[in-house]
Amino acid sequence: MHVTVLTIFPELFGPFLETSLIGRARERGLLEIEVWNLRDFTADRHRTVDDEPYGGGGGMVMTAPPWIRAVRELTAARPAWRVLLSPQGRRLDEALVRELAARPALVLLCARYEGIDERVAECVVDQEVSIGDYVLSGGELPAMVLIEALSRQIPGVVQLAESVVRDSFRAGLLDHPHFTRPPVVEGREVPPVLLSGNHAEIERWREVAALRATRAKRPDLLAGAELTAAQRRELARLEQEERAGVAGPASDRR
Ligand code: SAM
Repeated sequence: MHVTVLTIFPELFGPFLETSLIGRARERGLLEIEVWNLRDFTADRHRTVDDEPYGGGGGMVMTAPPWIRAVRELTAARPAWRVLLSPQGRRLDEALVRELAARPALVLLCARYEGIDERVAECVVDQEVSIGDYVLSGGELPAMVLIEALSRQIPGVVQLAESVVRDSFRAGLLDHPHFTRPPVVEGREVPPVLLSGNHAEIERWREVAALRATRAKRPDLLAGAELTAAQRRELARLEQEERAGVAGPASDRR
């Protein structure tokens, strides 16, 4: 996969692109990422990228010509799906990450100030993507969030494919809880089944634990989840317990 990033702050990407899974994926050629400074596509000697808004009001607006020139030049040889990071876009979730990961090349437009002149979205953007209903000061962090989420979908980036398959949201549920040494922390023991060496039992425990975690923390996910037989049995049992008043409603530990 090839990702081109357009920003006025390319220096923000340095350590992010060199560290951990992303750094190794780039070294191994699984992921190619280019970061371009939008100012390199300006035509004036001040390398201007913003101007006052038509109609007045506060803040500055990013001017269209450098964006349009940059996107056209950078996609001339390699066509790409062009994504504008924007709080007004489609909210990023697992389904959208997988859709974007299936594209061989992406261009990510990271805006600043009040955003970009609307005509950029009309002329050179295929999709607007938001990382959530809140407003950041720039599209750089959203682009990094997207790149990191995408990279986990590329075969070989995460060494153990099994851990990606178990990731939260993958099968519509949250991941099961994880434990490592020491066996006792603050008087709390690791669930004994995880020390049993019985892989079938451990697998069943994980399925049920994923179901329980989802029901406790994100019950909204259950309606769309594909449940295994063990998970369906556990859900029925929990619902029955709740109706009988044995257990209160699932706790909300977020
Ligand atoms: N005035 C814009 C609005 O309210 O829709 C917000 C502009 S914001 C200060 C500057 C830039 O940061 C945006 O154009 C976008 O590129 C990026 N940005 C901010 N919040 C974002 C979010 N939740 N998801 C994706 N990009 C975001």
